[in-house]
Amino acid sequence: MDDCIFCQIVDGEIPSRTVHEDDDVLAFLDANPLAPGHTLVIPKSHHESLNDLPADVGSEVFAAVHALTPAAEAAVDAPASTVAFNNGEAAGQEVPHVHAHIVPRFEADGGRPIHALVSDRPDLSDDELDDIAAAMRA
Ligand code: AMP
Ligand code: ZN
Repeated sequence: MDDCIFCQIVDGEIPSRTVHEDDDVLAFLDANPLAPGHTLVIPKSHHESLNDLPADVGSEVFAAVHALTPAAEAAVDAPASTVAFNNGEAAGQEVPHVHAHIVPRFEADGGRPIHALVSDRPDLSDDELDDIAAAMRA
């Protein structure tokens, strides 16, 4: 993808502070970090979202996330981290090349947990929850 900023990083056309590279995965520091050690983990191949990601590539991305989460925390002496994908434009994904965020977290950093993602929680009935679960199992 010629106009994809993360593909350009993979191709070396845009510099990055790389922290890990293997055949399938690249990880580098976020240029506009939410915290020291904020790291992005991407597949080298272009896939827009998790929904487009082949399972084997997803496994490689997760293996890197698994290894780099404690590394990012240790590098900045953080006791915790938030690990997340903005998956799709409606979820706030701005760069359409799938990427995991590893954001080291600190006591009293002013950040919030994933439960603060939405301000208006839906009030779902038991039947609605049953229907959603059934639709997902189908
Ligand atoms: P998202 O909103 O999930 O798509 O996040 C995209 C992330 O990419 C943001 O946190 C940006 O700060 C980061 N970003 C954009 N351009 C670059 C770049 N050239 N190098 C490193 N990080 C970048
Ligand atoms: Zn790309």
